[in-house]
Amino acid sequence: FRRNPGEAEFHQAVTEVFESLEAVSRKRPEYAEAAILQRMCEPERQIIFRVPWTDSEGRVQINRGFRVEFNSALGPYKGGLRFHPSVYLGIVKFLGFEQIFKNSLTGMPIGGGKGGSDFDPRGKTDAEVMRFCQSFMTELYRHIGEYTDVPAGDVGVGGREIGYLFGQYKRITNRYESGVLTGKGISWGGSLVRPEATGFGTVLFTQEMLKTRGMSFDGQRVVVSGSGNVALNAIAKAQTLGARVLTASDSSGYIVDERGIDIDLLRQIKEVERGRISEYAERAKSKRVHYVEGGTVWDVDSSVALPCATQNELDAKHAKRLIASGVVAVSEGANMPCTAAATSLFQDSGVLFAPGKAANAGGVATSALEMQQNASRDSWSFAHTEERLTEIMIGIHDRCASTADEYGVPGNYVAGANIAGFVKVADAMLAQGLI
Ligand code: NDP
Repeated sequence: FRRNPGEAEFHQAVTEVFESLEAVSRKRPEYAEAAILQRMCEPERQIIFRVPWTDSEGRVQINRGFRVEFNSALGPYKGGLRFHPSVYLGIVKFLGFEQIFKNSLTGMPIGGGKGGSDFDPRGKTDAEVMRFCQSFMTELYRHIGEYTDVPAGDVGVGGREIGYLFGQYKRITNRYESGVLTGKGISWGGSLVRPEATGFGTVLFTQEMLKTRGMSFDGQRVVVSGSGNVALNAIAKAQTLGARVLTASDSSGYIVDERGIDIDLLRQIKEVERGRISEYAERAKSKRVHYVEGGTVWDVDSSVALPCATQNELDAKHAKRLIASGVVAVSEGANMPCTAAATSLFQDSGVLFAPGKAANAGGVATSALEMQQNASRDSWSFAHTEERLTEIMIGIHDRCASTADEYGVPGNYVAGANIAGFVKVADAMLAQGLI
């Protein structure tokens, strides 16, 4: 912690993983001899750069850009870019660290990395976003590549931003290198199912957990936080499987729709118009729909909770509230949305709990499928790609569950995910020598 002062989220992510690894250290003393844990905490490379751009009034703006290339034991660095005013090195490192184990769990040949900027895309014009993305890529391009580092989207980076980033990469390098970014548009190298994959995957993982108790999504009352890429697709999939999803939120407040969220209306407001969640209540025109300014969706009674917005959005107080309302499963669609105290409360109360590095791995797994399609100059159908995603999510669930059994903590998906993800990376690092 002294080496990385002030990086609170990074400390939190490392602590959570290391707490799960005691049993591994006893079983595999060679990891300690090779200082595997210390090496894993130190990124292989960290890049911090200036991003100058001009706003619509002609004023010069300066943001800070980051790319943390954390671990390449299993493949090229892979992980998203986040554009949000809260981004600083501690956030990028927490996300990059988590990404190492998540990517390992998918079973695909991808290492871990993450990047982003403190740029706030909210309220910016398309032209401003484009100028920012072009400036960002003008520095980043020299560090990335199909065999080096393959960024994707995350908070604040969707199809529009990936398009501008890809265009600038192509222009600077004079190479149509499809495999340099994932999350591309379908007509220019993207993969079907990639936009849906994280939210769909979170629900598929939850379904596998529910099955272990003889349950399914059918008839469940589900609360979802957020209304971005992950939340929208989690809502859509849960409702397809027969659940009633009651909520969605943004950083201003949340809506409750007792009839079940109208996903077409929500997509229109959030994806097409880039509007606020409050508009849903105004346009739904039903007594069974209301908007709550501020507050949290965790105040709504539910049997399944899917936090899909941001880190540390669900704390011990919220966990107690959810447990009292009879929640049976909680799955992290977002990265680290539950605090350590909330996670412990769920586990101690026998709630099925899926950590983000397992439950939201469907996004990066489908990015790896996009890389496969780019490498073979092929494009797969929606049905085929969704089938692959389903197989991958079931595989991750089973790997977490069997590893938890093997290490004497049955049902503990946190330990299962951390240990299974770690061992594969650690063995590759041992094999590749002291680098
Ligand atoms: P988006 O930018 O598409 O959406 C984020 C959503 O969360 C927005 O609706 C945002 O609202 C909302 N939000 C942010 N802060 C809060 C808050 N404090 N309270 C309530 N809502 C809030 O991002 P994604 O959906 O892509 O990402 C969400 C999470 O999922 C992140 O943790 C991300 O790292 C993780 N994730 C994403 C993957 C992907 O494929 N996209 C893959 C794996 C993980 P507002 O508009 O007000 O900011």
